[in-house]
Amino acid sequence: MAKAMLIDTTKCLFCNACSVECKQQNKVPLGKNIFLTQMMIREIGKFPKVKQFFIKRACNHCTEAACVDVCPTHALFHHKDGYVVLDQNRCNGCGYCSQFCPFQIPQLEIFDAFSGAAKSYKCTFCADRVAQGYETYCAAACPFGAITFGDREKLIVQGQRRVAELKNRGVAEARLYGEKELGGLHVLYILEQKPRYYGLPDNPQYPVIPKVLDVVKILGYAALGVTVVGLGVNWIIARRNIRAEESIEKKEEKPHE
Ligand code: SF4
Ligand code: SF4
Ligand code: SF4
Repeated sequence: MAKAMLIDTTKCLFCNACSVECKQQNKVPLGKNIFLTQMMIREIGKFPKVKQFFIKRACNHCTEAACVDVCPTHALFHHKDGYVVLDQNRCNGCGYCSQFCPFQIPQLEIFDAFSGAAKSYKCTFCADRVAQGYETYCAAACPFGAITFGDREKLIVQGQRRVAELKNRGVAEARLYGEKELGGLHVLYILEQKPRYYGLPDNPQYPVIPKVLDVVKILGYAALGVTVVGLGVNWIIARRNIRAEESIEKKEEKPHE
């Protein structure tokens, strides 16, 4: 069953517990401007009539995920429960995910300035922890109940109920964001205003992906194929060598006639 997180921005107090817990538990490099989730403040109006909005900025785990489609090494892929996993061991640091994400989420960390070698970082949906039946670290850390983890369908109903409640209290622009956008996000937001005031695109669009990237992807498949064939050949040669050594050992064990 599809999983998701529901972020109720009306309950967030910008304490940053989610962001700190995420960074600590997911061993994100310290001392660098790399985050899997980051709190942002947006303001509208002019002093003294200023309104601030708080938003947790992270991967939205899109159903129509451009990052998955452009990644040439298949480091990004959908989990069966809908969210988008990043296997850093397969990431070659090309940066296409970052370039084509409609929310500009993945961050690249260049860890070797000489060669330009880099790795991509983005929210992992705490996949290992979720697989064990727990909620995400950020949801567990939020002291104000602003992040709820659970079944996507149930969270949509919960979000719609909360939006109706806000509208009844006079918040005319209240809305649920993420239910339909990009085929459905696996991070849903309760907003009090138009998405743009939170730094979210009002109507996020799947990007135009240049055809040349199809070729890059095919080359990626080819490279994967060559690797698999190479491993197979290695295995056959290794088996042959082991057998040859075993037969020499057996001969040596035989008593001399
Ligand atoms: S928000 Fe960006 S990085 Fe996350 S799944 Fe969507 S396209 Fe990929
Ligand atoms: S789901 Fe996990 S990786 Fe993603 S923002 Fe929350 S704590 Fe960080
Ligand atoms: S932990 Fe909760 S209240 Fe604190 S910043 Fe994160 S979402 Fe907001």
